[in-house]
Amino acid sequence: MAKRDYYEILGVSKDASQDEIKSAFRKLAKKYHPDLNKDDPKAAEEKFKEAQEAYAVLSDENKRRQYDQFGHAAFDGSSGGGFGGFDASGFDFGDIFDDLFGGSGFGFGSARSSRSRASRGSDELMRIKLSFLESVFGTTKEIEVDVMDTCDECHGDGGFDQVTCEHCHGSGTVTSDQHTIFGSFLSKTTCPYCQGKGKTYKRTCTKCRGKGRIKKNKKIEVTIPSGVNNDDRLRLAGFGNAGSNGGSNGDLYLQFQVADHEFFTRENDDIYIDVPLTITEAVLGCKKEVPTLTGNIKLTIPAGSEDGDKQRIKGKGVNNVSEHHKGDMYFVMKIVVPTKLSREQKQLFEKLDKLGLDNTTDINKFNKFVQQNEK
Ligand SMILES: [Zn+2]
Ligand SMILES: [Zn+2]
Repeated sequence: MAKRDYYEILGVSKDASQDEIKSAFRKLAKKYHPDLNKDDPKAAEEKFKEAQEAYAVLSDENKRRQYDQFGHAAFDGSSGGGFGGFDASGFDFGDIFDDLFGGSGFGFGSARSSRSRASRGSDELMRIKLSFLESVFGTTKEIEVDVMDTCDECHGDGGFDQVTCEHCHGSGTVTSDQHTIFGSFLSKTTCPYCQGKGKTYKRTCTKCRGKGRIKKNKKIEVTIPSGVNNDDRLRLAGFGNAGSNGGSNGDLYLQFQVADHEFFTRENDDIYIDVPLTITEAVLGCKKEVPTLTGNIKLTIPAGSEDGDKQRIKGKGVNNVSEHHKGDMYFVMKIVVPTKLSREQKQLFEKLDKLGLDNTTDINKFNKFVQQNEK
């Protein structure tokens, strides 16, 4: 799409004065303000950006001359400038928007207000080690965390005996020359002497060195709910770093590292445990005492159990409070082949072997295949 002429966009003549250009832009900026264009904000934003770009060029005599001479080519790189199109994003419209909209901020995010705003404190992340059973049942822990806290000496002000900043006369902003590839123009920035507050203090707080915030070691007692899992995060609202200029505190996140258990393993909210069986227990079946998370129970192992057979007990897994879910408990049979046999045991196994224990369907099938396979 061909770019529209900058003079045409602003609706001014080629020999318009800077005042005319400025007032034309102010009118357009008002017209395309997002609050007044709620039915089609996208189109308004397009129009606004177009006007913004035109104004950024035409309000600067240097750039305007280049544009008059070369048109859009002055900024798209084809004239040897090599800047790849004019980018208005670095242009500070702050003063225009401040007197247009009272510094309330412009919805397109184009205007950066130079005033100091309340800002929320940052979040903090802390890793917490839990034993397997602590994670399953929940626990309370006293944790220590280093966070930025409001200075209690100056109550976050950073000083005492407030006076109006002499440097910016209380406005919080200073005007300075900004140099760019298109030349220099005036821009407003936050006053470095009062950090935009417009106020300074006769005496700087020595405890926080004027920052209003100070690093503090805090002890917090935390209740960790039952059922948290590895890498789960718990958010403690407001326990992060203190905000500045009256902003709210950030949050503290606890991230859990759960240690393995020697016997229990967890999969989501289900608990698994291997149950070792002797060969005779597996063959003959038995009743066996086995552990659960809440004490031992008697499990009936049927005759002819195979390695890997599972038994499920419903609701004996993890009681996960945060996920409103109760898991199950699985017992997994592991048949243990005896390696150290007494003489008598060995004789009995030899006797069993002679009695034809290989008379099962699977073994018969396999033996048949071996015979067929013979060359
Ligand atoms: Zn202080
Ligand atoms: Zn100041």
